[in-house]
Amino acid sequence: MKALEEKIRLEGVALSETVLKVDSFVNHQVDPVIMQQIGDAFAAAYKDEGVTKVFTIESSGIAPALYTAAALGVPMVILKKQTSKTLSGEVFQTNITSFTKGTSYELTLSKKYISPDDRILVIDDFLANGEAASGASHLISLGGASIVGIGILIEKSFQRGRKRLEDAGLKVTSLARISRLSKGVIEFTDADI
Ligand code: 5GP
Repeated sequence: MKALEEKIRLEGVALSETVLKVDSFVNHQVDPVIMQQIGDAFAAAYKDEGVTKVFTIESSGIAPALYTAAALGVPMVILKKQTSKTLSGEVFQTNITSFTKGTSYELTLSKKYISPDDRILVIDDFLANGEAASGASHLISLGGASIVGIGILIEKSFQRGRKRLEDAGLKVTSLARISRLSKGVIEFTDADI
């Protein structure tokens, strides 16, 4: 998606060889214009897949996931990051290690918001090692639902996330794919749409 690539070139800050900061339009301040374009692009790519729900991971996935859900006319579900295991039996949980923070959390989904008939599109801001997306996929399989794809705003293609997801049989749709990062340098490879 050329508009997203342009935005990253203009406003993205490569902090190191592995971390890109996009606080001015994704992670801190949010640009609703580009978020709507992103939602429309994912919705167009998945319009024939019978998507029943869009899942995302709090908090930076919420804005693009909401625009995607609105464009597809389906609900959005936010997977919560909880600090401890819940023993109520009313939720599905899986442990995730955060790429940026190095800490771990319990990704949590209420059993109320998933059913075996669901066909789910997962949206997240970044793909690094694929921890968050694999966790979302695991929760969806615990709920007995199908996962139609994983939509990513910014994939760091030099990390192992995409291969990990594809090896697990998941379809990945990334709007911007970064082949190399280093201080002040952001290089792109061809995106999926
Ligand atoms: P993964 O789970 O694929 O290893 O990492 C993806 C998650 O880590 C994303 O949900 C995102 O919050 C965070 N993340 C990974 N890499 C970056 C990065 O370069 N910049 C920012 N801002 N977040 C990242």
